[in-house]
Amino acid sequence: SFPAEAVPQAPEDPLFGLMRAYRADESPDKVDLGIGAYRDNTAKPWVLPVVKKADEILRNDPELNHEYLPIAGLASFTTKACELILGGASPAISEKRVTSVQTISGTGAVHLGALFLARFYKIHGANRTVYLSNPTWANHNQIFTNVGIPIATYPYFDKQTKGLDFEGMKKTLADAPERSIILLHACAHNPTGVDPTPEQWREIAGLMRAKKHFPFFDCAYQGFASGDLERDAAAIHYFVEQGFELVIAQSFAKNFGLYGERAGCFHFVASPSSDASEITTRVASQLAILQRSEISNPPIYGARIASTVLNDKALFAEWQENLRTMSGRIIDMRKALRARLEELGTPGTWNHITDQIGMFSFTGLSEAQVMKLREEFHVYMTKNGRISMAGLNTRNVDYFAKAVDKVVR
Ligand code: PMP
Repeated sequence: SFPAEAVPQAPEDPLFGLMRAYRADESPDKVDLGIGAYRDNTAKPWVLPVVKKADEILRNDPELNHEYLPIAGLASFTTKACELILGGASPAISEKRVTSVQTISGTGAVHLGALFLARFYKIHGANRTVYLSNPTWANHNQIFTNVGIPIATYPYFDKQTKGLDFEGMKKTLADAPERSIILLHACAHNPTGVDPTPEQWREIAGLMRAKKHFPFFDCAYQGFASGDLERDAAAIHYFVEQGFELVIAQSFAKNFGLYGERAGCFHFVASPSSDASEITTRVASQLAILQRSEISNPPIYGARIASTVLNDKALFAEWQENLRTMSGRIIDMRKALRARLEELGTPGTWNHITDQIGMFSFTGLSEAQVMKLREEFHVYMTKNGRISMAGLNTRNVDYFAKAVDKVVR
């Protein structure tokens, strides 16, 4: 029989351990800066008003049933998701060089992409290495390891400037073997909040083109980062314009607040060529087989909500307004935190707090400082000094700034 006795205890996921410690803390001052989900100014989860409306519409539909979706998901959802990420006027769409598969949110999209590459992205019979930014979203490591794709890293964060280590990144991409897979965060890099500038993206693309590298975009924050859907997808638009063959993992967790509904999409885009649409059809056929064996077909409700919004002009406009509310609050908290620290004269520079973008910020706090914040001030963040800006609000930003000031001195 299966010797389950030999199964070792796995370590706890550090983020879940952090959440547990926060819950157990009885201090009224406690601050949760570990969370990876948006909170409103009262520290509560926020159901987007447009999502509430879509929910109403769906619930009042007497025809609504709970049948299976097709293997590739809800077509009215994947079609709009594709237009959203590539831009509706993208030649990739009109030339039928894109295939899209609905997935279990962004995680499922990264997984399906990794599985597809593990099966088909072979050079001299072996899988090409995937290069992940250092640091990156921790799950990237696990997902690619699980499908047997070797992992390497490229430098990303410059500890001095708390910005992009652009020279280090370029050097590693230039030195990597040709046709390596390069995982890129489309916007609002997790965990650092540091994104390349448009000019830097052009250089990255040029370098990747010269080395024939394969771009794998992970896009978990479109519209949530800047409040502007176009702007947050600009890097992807540029790479597609440049004619790259690439893949995209797209999450609707953050930008729709549909975290637990698991709405996401995986896209394959072929390079422009006379047989691009046939290549795309073959890729679609293989993705369908992988999807079938993994999940049969994707979950329906989150996709229905997103589809309802994406297919209705008025609801779409309202969604953009909701995105501006979320991203605007986060940007305001960045400004407030930086201003408080500068007012207090906290040692160090704090411009990186407002230079960084999206849900997370790499503060530059050391592990010892992070632990001190937890033990003495009931402030919870990951050991690498990452804070979730969504955990800050007008009631606790002052308290947090003062606590940082004390542990930094
Ligand atoms: N990629 C990155 C970089 C992320 O930050 C996240 C969310 N934490 C995801 C993918 C996927 O999240 P989800 O599966 O909830 O869409």
